[in-house]
Amino acid sequence: MSYTLPEAFLRRTWAEIYLDRAEKNFDILRNIIDPSFTRPACVIKANAYGHGDVQLMKCYAGKGTDFFTVSNINEALRLREGGCEGDILILGWTSALYAQTLADNDIIQAVLSVEHARELSENAGEKPVRVHIKLDTGMGRIGLLTDDTDRCAEEISSICTLENINAEGIFTHFAAADSADPDCFAYTDNQKRRFFEAVSKAEEKGCKFKEIHCLNSAATLLHYDKRSTLARMGIILYGLKPDASMEIPDGIKPVMELKSVVSYIKKLKKGESVSYGRTFVADRDMTVATIPAGYADGYSRLLSGRNEVLINGRRAKGVGRICMDQMMVDITHIPDVTEGTVVTLFGTDGGETITADDLASVYGTIGYEIICGINQRVPRIYIRNGSIAEIHEFI
Ligand SMILES: *Cc1c(COP(=O)(O)O)cnc(C)c1O
Repeated sequence: MSYTLPEAFLRRTWAEIYLDRAEKNFDILRNIIDPSFTRPACVIKANAYGHGDVQLMKCYAGKGTDFFTVSNINEALRLREGGCEGDILILGWTSALYAQTLADNDIIQAVLSVEHARELSENAGEKPVRVHIKLDTGMGRIGLLTDDTDRCAEEISSICTLENINAEGIFTHFAAADSADPDCFAYTDNQKRRFFEAVSKAEEKGCKFKEIHCLNSAATLLHYDKRSTLARMGIILYGLKPDASMEIPDGIKPVMELKSVVSYIKKLKKGESVSYGRTFVADRDMTVATIPAGYADGYSRLLSGRNEVLINGRRAKGVGRICMDQMMVDITHIPDVTEGTVVTLFGTDGGETITADDLASVYGTIGYEIICGINQRVPRIYIRNGSIAEIHEFI
């Protein structure tokens, strides 16, 4: 840690957001896609996967990104109010009752069905609503069905001719692009085939799309296709893996680290227990540190008894149940720990690293859930080139 933390933060738990790593990741990824066909579209839904939406939007805008995607209208409006000048696409559903709000704020809405398109068209005011048509090619979630691409093209074409909406884009989402399994590869190829087939048939009927896109992080790495005008990258920009089995490009680093401090140290005698339910009983005399972080910060209780943290560059194992606001770790083997010593819950300390992906694998989830789950009470400290650029406290 090369910067000095304000005294006030030594009281509890905070997330460090390394903007220079976000920029580096962006540069590496931009070199993977062919710039004459595809531009990066940064996915900053869910508060930029917990990193801070406006801050990350500004970071990628600074790198030249002009296309952002979010999951709902509140997220889109937050970006606009935060000064976003680029395109903002809402990937999920928005009620047609918001048609005018969408148009007034120049927000692009995904259209999930012909019916949805009609409702948006009917509710629009003076200004047309910009939309991208979503095709369901095999995700089974939202979008026009593509089992029969002729019928689908008819539907697309009927949307293109509606008044008060501008169908300027069309897209789909892959269900299994993150797996190297041959069946998953074939499944993704088939999704792609259906998508581009439906798009060409709609184009033959006179539809014209500025943006045609199908790539998420995993597909950008494993199924890059220059027919996709945008690469909707999320998790990989934040430096985590789409799937634990995937190799990610050299130099990609996690943007977020989660830190806390030691709040209390005690000697535990053989036979004494730690935390709720007395699930941990010392089988020897030991030294235990308390850390003021728990499941209300987004550090799952499912990690109880299975987690490790880093202190003074060494691994310390969790003992007893993780509480709402506190957890305990065994520091018997670690010298020079005092109240206030920094603890890395995920991140790097000396030669040791624990990633959010590592933690996720301990209890059967994915890194996405860990970073999205870091609670609002955890302040975000933005760091660039070793110094603090901004501190953001939600509550
Ligand atoms: C979340 C999302 C993405 C980004 O996914 P990553 O795996 O994080 O890259 C892309 N497209 C859609 C439709 C999404 O919902």
